[in-house]
Amino acid sequence: RPLVGNLIGEDHVNYVLMYNMLTGIRIAVSRCQAKIKRPLTDDDFIARHKYSFDIVGNELTPSAKYDFKFKDYAPWVFRDLREDCFQLDPADYLLSLTAKYILSELGSPGKSGSFFYFSRDYRFIIKTIRHSEQKFLLSVLKKYYAHVKNNPHTLLSRFYGLHRVKLPRGRKIHFVIMNNLFPPHKDIHETFDLKGSTVGRVYPEEKAQKNPRAVLKDLNWIDRGKTLELGPEKRALFTEQLRRDSELLKAINVMDYSLLVGIHHMRRGNKENVRSNTLKVFSPTVPSIRRKSTVKGSRSPEAIAMRRAMRESDPKRLGSAVLQLPEEDTGDRQQFIFYRDDGGLQATDEANQPLDTLYYLGIIDILTPYKSLKKVEHFLKGLSADRHKISPVPPAEYADRFFSFMKVIIRGGGDPTRFKAE
Ligand code: ATP
Ligand code: CA
Ligand code: CA
Repeated sequence: RPLVGNLIGEDHVNYVLMYNMLTGIRIAVSRCQAKIKRPLTDDDFIARHKYSFDIVGNELTPSAKYDFKFKDYAPWVFRDLREDCFQLDPADYLLSLTAKYILSELGSPGKSGSFFYFSRDYRFIIKTIRHSEQKFLLSVLKKYYAHVKNNPHTLLSRFYGLHRVKLPRGRKIHFVIMNNLFPPHKDIHETFDLKGSTVGRVYPEEKAQKNPRAVLKDLNWIDRGKTLELGPEKRALFTEQLRRDSELLKAINVMDYSLLVGIHHMRRGNKENVRSNTLKVFSPTVPSIRRKSTVKGSRSPEAIAMRRAMRESDPKRLGSAVLQLPEEDTGDRQQFIFYRDDGGLQATDEANQPLDTLYYLGIIDILTPYKSLKKVEHFLKGLSADRHKISPVPPAEYADRFFSFMKVIIRGGGDPTRFKAE
């Protein structure tokens, strides 16, 4: 599957940031990875590792094209999450994130001003987040970690890393690395971002007809009469996981998150390759690592794998912007029940037999605590609409409404129109 995109050069506003992010990840992650694994301690949850990059370089950091500072938050916890909970291969992770290309489909798909970048193989997303979100994630990291340990099949966003880049003039950019719910090898024919709120939650249908990439919302779902086609087995598993995940979201006091639903119709297949026209391709040539400094005397299998990955990912020159995406599922999510069928969840009938639709599902944008700003928004939006149907409601109410809505959108779950405002 070739993908064609516009190659972004060094003059692009985000090129330096991109370069710095990738260089920082490369050095910080490989440094932590090269050490022998050990059990986590309480301190690991508040640890911060700092790196300072400049054009000269030193024994900790190789010379870089620009001056910047990099912070790696709770590196051991994220290493554990990646390897033990989410079953990522460490060399793969680094290779995907720092190899030759990084893709950006849309400047900012959300309203929040965050930027989203995709790893070359489309498996990982780098999302820039607000400082408040970064502080929040750190503050709930222990609970998140415990939840993921106890719920290997969680639908929550999978966080693989939390970092910060500081540019010389003092601008600080925080970002997370997380899973891309959508697969590289399947066209997504319809996308929904569902909250269980119905006030203003609509993408204009006339525009949707022209834009196959549109992210549709709750009212589009209801008005199109959609249902999640899941037979009794999958329905029970999915509902139970949603219930547990909503309980955690309630406990950490967040709201405004959504269930992202990507739908692939198997009969339509992959002919429509809707991605390439909006794709931007960054090719930041990040510096290579002097072997001695990273893996001093380490012969552990991890260290050897890391060295191989770094050799292979070392970009020597700027390439063209034609990329090859995998033809089939990489198989790395096989052990997770909701991501087992071609990277997603295949629809089933009432006899639990497969139907020809694939769903790609997950709970995203889970770092918004119910703080003063959201309370003000709750008050203001509540003046002109039903206080219980607007998007900003307190976390317990949000989670309950979210969960009941998701139950109702599954086949046989009931009538979702009752979520509509009068
Ligand atoms: P806002 O706060 O305004 O909702 P945001 O910048 O926080 O926006 P998100 O809600 O996290 O952004 O995501 C915006 C869109 O990006 C989603 O509706 C979805 O289309 C896409 N997206 C986000 N996370 C993922 C993911 N993990 N996998 C695939 N697509 C994603
Ligand atoms: Ca959102
Ligand atoms: Ca958000």
